[in-house]
Amino acid sequence: MSSRIHPQPGILEIAPYQGGESRLDGVRDVVKLSSNENPFGASEKAMEAFRRCAHSLHRYPSSDHAALRAAIAEAYGLDAGRIICGAGSDEIITFLCQAYAGPGDEVLYPEHGFLMYRISALAAGATPVEAPETRRTVDVDALLAACTQRTRLVFIANPANPTGTMVPLSELERLADNLPPQALLVLDGAYVEYAEGYDGGAGLADSRENVVMTRTFSKIYGLGGLRIGWGYGPAEVIAVLNRLRGPFNLSTAQIETALAAVGDQDHVERCRSENARLRAWLVEALREAGVECDDSQANFVLARFASSDEAAACDAHLRGEGMIVRRVDGYKLPDCLRITVGDEPSCRRVAHAITQFRRQG
Ligand SMILES: *Cc1c(COP(=O)(O)O)cnc(C)c1O
Repeated sequence: MSSRIHPQPGILEIAPYQGGESRLDGVRDVVKLSSNENPFGASEKAMEAFRRCAHSLHRYPSSDHAALRAAIAEAYGLDAGRIICGAGSDEIITFLCQAYAGPGDEVLYPEHGFLMYRISALAAGATPVEAPETRRTVDVDALLAACTQRTRLVFIANPANPTGTMVPLSELERLADNLPPQALLVLDGAYVEYAEGYDGGAGLADSRENVVMTRTFSKIYGLGGLRIGWGYGPAEVIAVLNRLRGPFNLSTAQIETALAAVGDQDHVERCRSENARLRAWLVEALREAGVECDDSQANFVLARFASSDEAAACDAHLRGEGMIVRRVDGYKLPDCLRITVGDEPSCRRVAHAITQFRRQG
């Protein structure tokens, strides 16, 4: 390869995103608790809609996603004209970085923030900047202190991944109101449906010119394999993102399945309440085993061990028992394991194995 052929600056600094593992050698029924997937799967209505798409595969999909945007707007009480749909919320994050950050610009996010913020910032040629957190919780003062004249985007997931912690709406308001004028606040709401009494930042995105919300069908809707997400924000911002969006960025199957899924809020409610019940049970079982977790508002818990060695040993023990959880060294949390709240048998199995591990100590 000619040495004159080289990629744009920043791209070689990207460490490719590693998805949660799903296989263990020699184990048949692996319990996968590493990717925050919905253990109850997608709604029956969504699956039926997906099957129906087989009959129209020769047709191009809708390019304006009008029906899906209308259904999302109705379910969440939003303005359909200010929604943009993408191949997962990852695509919306990518559009935001491409549109608003380039070489010389800074993209700010918290210390334990989702890895895609860094990856998308680097892909756009911008500089990723991290602000410290306080006991694994987003610290608004630290974020404000880290802002400069070059800050163009600030990403926060609330609830956060991988910590599961939340900051109150009043803190997000304070952040939005005190950012430098050229900075856009992005509230990543991948886990909003699992939290109680929080609109994901929809109200802020309605009332502020500098706030965008992103959401996904990958978590509570159980459609991670299909790749559908959306963003909501000021009309000007959504119009900018739409210029970057490929005309057929979502397939017919993605659009139709998401449409049926958002119409089945009973399924969402069942998943929410089961998750809340099993999450509380799991946190308590881990506590009894001497393993503390922060107060999670999501569909996973972050289990803290005495050291990174203990976390690694527990991970190895779980693998031996046919269970995969997530090491979070890449999130600067080497003494922790992130455990997705699975169905009841999976929760019991993982709690039992960790208790066993602690007893062998
Ligand atoms: C899972 C997750 C997403 C969702 O990504 P998709 O591309 O919609 O599947 C976004 N943000 C965070 C913090 C997540 O954990």
